[in-house]
Amino acid sequence: MRLATSDVLAERHRRLHDALGRDALDALVVTNPSNIRYLTNHVGSAGTVVVTRDAVHLLVDFRYHEVVSSLQTSPAACPTLLVRSVPASYDEALADLLTELRLTSVGIEAAHLTVARHEWLTKTLASRAQSMSLRSTQRLVEQLRLIKDRFELQVIRDAAARLEAVVDQSFPALRPGAIERDVAAAIERALRKAGYERPAFDTIVASGPNSALPHHRAASRKLTPGDLVVLDFGGVLDGYCCDLTRMASVGTPSPEAERLYDAVREAHRAAIETVKPGRPASDVDAAARDVLKAHGLGDAFGHGTGHGLGLDVHEEPRVGRRRADAPDPILEPGMVFTIEPGAYLAGFGGVRIEDDVLVTENGCDVLTSVSRDLRICG
Ligand code: ZN
Ligand code: ZN
Repeated sequence: MRLATSDVLAERHRRLHDALGRDALDALVVTNPSNIRYLTNHVGSAGTVVVTRDAVHLLVDFRYHEVVSSLQTSPAACPTLLVRSVPASYDEALADLLTELRLTSVGIEAAHLTVARHEWLTKTLASRAQSMSLRSTQRLVEQLRLIKDRFELQVIRDAAARLEAVVDQSFPALRPGAIERDVAAAIERALRKAGYERPAFDTIVASGPNSALPHHRAASRKLTPGDLVVLDFGGVLDGYCCDLTRMASVGTPSPEAERLYDAVREAHRAAIETVKPGRPASDVDAAARDVLKAHGLGDAFGHGTGHGLGLDVHEEPRVGRRRADAPDPILEPGMVFTIEPGAYLAGFGGVRIEDDVLVTENGCDVLTSVSRDLRICG
């Protein structure tokens, strides 16, 4: 598995230190596993990190000692890492460390520390006469992850490029009479064969009326002549996700199916042409939505145009309608997200086309190269 090298991690730490400085924090307790991986290369399912101005403390139990120590003698060693063994409870080990460090203002990741753990920690530190304030923070590390560094771009480009082989391998399984679940299994086998460690999410194969249900996964329905089929899948490579949706028609598509397909494809193209640094993400959504509205399909497009991709399959930035209660990020070079407009007509079927794009200095690179043509099978 490729891992970020020490210099890449050092740069991430430098950016986090700047963020801590802006918020007048001495340290950040990191409990989101993707953020822990981003800052340390530690990929275990357990672990807590405390980033101070001069060190990165990793709390792990005995299961991870060997892998962490071999990591620390490799080019992927985490700079300034201090490993601390957790004999029993992670929370007790964290309280002990915070007590020892004698910090005054410590941030916690509000979205990733339960109220119960927060209360316990506050009470325990107070009982030790610690005059430390634990402050809720939002998205400190997620903000750094929004702009991909050179290591991440290398991996994400590779992850997206391998989807071509997955399609070549698995789409021949699309035949009249084939069961949705069997087609999904063929796709997931092809993902593993192409080198992905796992599917990024449950593969979606939605045929005929099921294609109009955005939450449908894959079931026992047989592909039937006249069906539109939504195929939505992705893989995780070296920790990073890619995400693709392509469409098939079982037999010759009806004029109505073609009309739907052409409208979504036009919306998809318009959204991609709108991606430029300096624009709000909601402009990209509006570009797709306006095209679908012009085709009388405004109500048929019930979700956002895209989502960020990285260590998580759904991360920032959100590419959706402008809303008062959600951030509308300004696009910057280095952001990676999906463009996936769709139109769904209940009882008839739906169409979605999804690609992964990287914002560049003057527009975007489309990272997924698979043909966008409606695939006719059978
Ligand atoms: Zn998808
Ligand atoms: Zn997606």
